[in-house]
Parts: sequence; C-alpha cells; structure tokens
Amino acid sequence: MTAPPRQNPCFRFAPSPNGFLHLGHALSALLNAERAKACGGRFLLRIEDIDPGRSTPEFEAAIYEDLAWLGLSWEMPVRRQSEHIDSYRDALARLQAMGLVYPAFLSRSDIKAEAQAFEAQGGRWPRDPDGALHYPLQERGLDPAEAARRIKAGARHALRLNMARALSRIDAPLLWTETGSGNVERIAADPAAWGDVILWRWDAPSSYHLSVVVDDALQGITEVVRGRDLYHATSVQRLLQALLGIAPPVYHHHRLVLGADGRKLSKSEGSAGIRQLRAEGRSPADLRRILGFVA
Ligand code: GLU
Repeated sequence: MTAPPRQNPCFRFAPSPNGFLHLGHALSALLNAERAKACGGRFLLRIEDIDPGRSTPEFEAAIYEDLAWLGLSWEMPVRRQSEHIDSYRDALARLQAMGLVYPAFLSRSDIKAEAQAFEAQGGRWPRDPDGALHYPLQERGLDPAEAARRIKAGARHALRLNMARALSRIDAPLLWTETGSGNVERIAADPAAWGDVILWRWDAPSSYHLSVVVDDALQGITEVVRGRDLYHATSVQRLLQALLGIAPPVYHHHRLVLGADGRKLSKSEGSAGIRQLRAEGRSPADLRRILGFVA
C-alpha cells in the first residue's frame, strides 16, 4: 500500500556539510530522487549549514560533487540554511509571543550534576530518545526581570521550549503519517519524550528542529524521506508544526546502512564514504547495487 497521491509532490535531501557523505546518505538521496521521479514530483537539495562550528565549504562542495557523481540532479538555487536565519527568527518570535520559550542558562555539566544528584537519591532522571538528559525544569518559572538581568550581564544561554505549556496548546491528537514500513501508518507523536528542547542555541543560530520545520514548510516539501535515526525527532517537529500552523508532510523513515561493526555509519567512517568507494574504483551502478536498487 502506498500513501495517497499528494498535490505537487516535493522531496528534499538535506545533508549537513560537516563531513563526507557515506552510503547511508547515498541511500537517502537516491530514494528521494527515485520517489520524486516516480510521481512526477520535484527533488530539492538543502544544505543544513546552520552550525558554523562544524560546517565547511569543502564539505559542501564535496556534497555537490558526490551527488552529481551518483547521477543525481536537483533544482537550483540550492537553499542554504545559513542564508535564511531571519525565517527561523520569525518562527521563534511567534513561539515567544505565545509564551512558550524561556532562556536557559544551565551548562551541560550543570545538567549532568543535577541528574547525578537526583539519581544518587534513587530516582531516574529522564532521558530523550537519543539518550541525552532532559533539561531541568526550574528555569521555566524564572522571573523575566532576573533572566533579563543575567542576559544583560552576558550570561551564556540558549532558548528552550516549555514543553508542558506547548502541549497544553494542542487540542487535537498529534499524529504523523509514516510510510517507512511499506504500509501507511498514523503514528502518535510523543514530543514530551524530548523534554524542553532547544530552539535557539548560544553557539549557533536556530536549532535543527526549528530550522527543519520552517524550511520544509517554506519549500513546500510534501514528503520527507530520511533515515530511521530521525524517526523520534519527528515528534518534536510535529509539535512545532502544530504550534506554527504548518501542514505536516508525509514521512518515510528508511532503514539505516550499518557499518561492518553493525553500528550506524558516521561521517568519519572512511570505508563507506562515497568518495572512498569511488577512489577504490566502484561505479555509481555498484553503489546502487550495494544499496539494493534495481539497476
Ligand atoms: N541535516 C540532517 C542530517 O544530515 C537531516 C535532516 C532531515 O532530513 O530532516 O542528518
């Protein structure tokens, strides 16, 4: 069973230029392009270079080169997140106006210390689906004047979503359509599992969740085809869409390509890198075969 046809289908492949692409990216990009072709839809490439500390022009150039070598083409111009900070800021401002955002001053080690102290008493500090500790709740109620004073004094801070308050604004079940299993399923989103997520970072503008939701909406993306490692992130993205009045795309989370050790590939994994395989003499057709595409 396939998902019902949608008007103006539009797909995107959205890599972050913080490493070389590997077989997992090739699978994502090829699946997006094939599905777009099969339904006469558009295929866009988006460069998720929101993190200036990790993104480089060299990795961005390598993305274009590797995808072209694979035989893919995409619409121009390519959207680069670093050029659209204003749109993420606008979305943030809307959430702020709804009273859902607060400045968060605790460092990673502060969070860890709180969690450890709690667990030393026999409790279990909540962790998000990626295993990261939830942010402590006490700053939700911080006096705005005190927060403003600290910010003025230069205190490093991020901006976080007050999850409890955000959920109280949602009056219909929060679901998404998922086709990753081969069937069309309606999945219940569970954003609370992530705690008070970051919306705006101190060391980079915007956050992954906010910018992805804004970009998918602004680019008219109707189908999100990406790796299963982002399955649970969809819960937060569905919540942000609901708060911002954005119609959700259909999601297809595909299998991950695993390394020889059975673990998810990382960008530092040379052996499965597209350019490494190419240097070893493999052809684009070889890669398609390795990934299970019929020629
Ligand atoms: N930029 C993300 C990554 O490279 C993918 C984001 C998405 O597909 O939603 O992992």
